[in-house]
Amino acid sequence: MDLGIKLQFSSLKTRVLLWFGTVAFVVLSLFALSFNYFLNKSINSNIKSKLQIIAERYNENIQVQNIGIALINDGKIQKKNSVFNLKNYKYYLHQKQNFFIIPHKKDDDYIDALYIAQQGKNKILVYRKNIDNKIENFQDTLLWLIPILLLVFIFLASKLIDKILLPINKLRNATKNITITKFTQEINLPKEDDEIRDLVVSFNAMIKRIKDGVERLDRFNSDVSHELKTPLTVIQGEIEIVLRKLREPKEYEKSLQTIQKQSKQIDLIVKQLLLLTKYSKENIQDTFEECSLDSILMNTIDKFQLKLKEKNIKLHIDKLEPINMNANCTLIDSIFVNLIDNAIKYTFQNKNITISLYQDDKIHFVIVDEGIGIKNEHLSKITQRFYRVDSARNKKTEGFGLGLSIVQNSIWLHDGNLEIISEKDIGTTFKVDFLISFKQSRYLRLKF
Ligand code: ATP
Ligand code: MG
Repeated sequence: MDLGIKLQFSSLKTRVLLWFGTVAFVVLSLFALSFNYFLNKSINSNIKSKLQIIAERYNENIQVQNIGIALINDGKIQKKNSVFNLKNYKYYLHQKQNFFIIPHKKDDDYIDALYIAQQGKNKILVYRKNIDNKIENFQDTLLWLIPILLLVFIFLASKLIDKILLPINKLRNATKNITITKFTQEINLPKEDDEIRDLVVSFNAMIKRIKDGVERLDRFNSDVSHELKTPLTVIQGEIEIVLRKLREPKEYEKSLQTIQKQSKQIDLIVKQLLLLTKYSKENIQDTFEECSLDSILMNTIDKFQLKLKEKNIKLHIDKLEPINMNANCTLIDSIFVNLIDNAIKYTFQNKNITISLYQDDKIHFVIVDEGIGIKNEHLSKITQRFYRVDSARNKKTEGFGLGLSIVQNSIWLHDGNLEIISEKDIGTTFKVDFLISFKQSRYLRLKF
């Protein structure tokens, strides 16, 4: 069947056309059959009532071209008009019905209709030759009309499907062109505001998300390589210099100390990256245990005593409530460590840091410093991996820019929230809060 379309049986278009074709065929056939039936019925009853009227007003002289009429008594014709020439009329007299349609197959005549009326002992037999041939004409017409209509329907449906599938085909071609290194441009939106348009909008949005994701991954890869390359270059350089000639033990010791420091850097980066990638929303629940937030916090503060002393920073504990939380204790520790580390790193000498840990309808951890602050333009970016504000890089403050992304990721894994409020040269506040889950609140009720 050539409809100006290529038919592929597995294609959506062919399947829709087949379905449509079958449904259209069934509907057309049903329509034709029922129409035929009712037309037949109405023509027959029309003829029947006409013949009945003639029979009831019996008159043998009735001279209508096709009407034969006879009065029969005891099986014998008493009177008849000139048209009447039914030879086997006796056969019909014995039938139970009084109205028949008699097909004339042999001669080329059309069907006859016959009506028998009883008048006392007499029977009046009226028949009509060449009855209306509308039904046969109609049946003949249907025989060629249904296939033609079906073809026209399928042709129109095929064109319509082509039109509907056009944006979907564009989508399909666009997806074929997508590789991890090459993203097609956006697909143009169809004019009509319909489901296809929604699909194209979602597709474009998905492409953008994947593109952003891949770009971020690329940046992350190059950042990781860059961060690892620096200590590795230092190590290689140091080894090359030392190996050029024999040296004093002191020089070897100094070189080894440099190498040790750099390898510790590499170790730290790898550990931090592992902390970032090890857990996901799917597996984090399995690592949950009961963590005493106040004890983890106190232990962390203890570890920073030396650094606090070096910069003569006073650490105030505003509130410290005993709080137990169902969580991953390592990640909770990483939140405290990184936020306190940053507060000390980015706070001027002789200043203050204030910490609070408390609970109302949520669990709160707040750390306020009097440090260098963060400009608004950086605020949304500082939680990205390897992002460091320029001043932090220039001043050669130690760090890779991973701390806050670990904090953000750990909070996200615990369905918590992080808010950062900062003013340049005044200080920064980090507010962390966690929901009290059903399990935790039950635990707390039991405890108090
Ligand atoms: P790392 O934590 O990996 O040792 P880092 O401290 O530089 O390095 P993040 O903790 O991720 O990295 O912080 C990102 C950047 O945000 C920092 O480089 C710094 O510029 C800025 N920042 C973070 N905390 C503070 C703070 N308390 N005050 C001012 N700036 C901050
Ligand atoms: Mg940090």
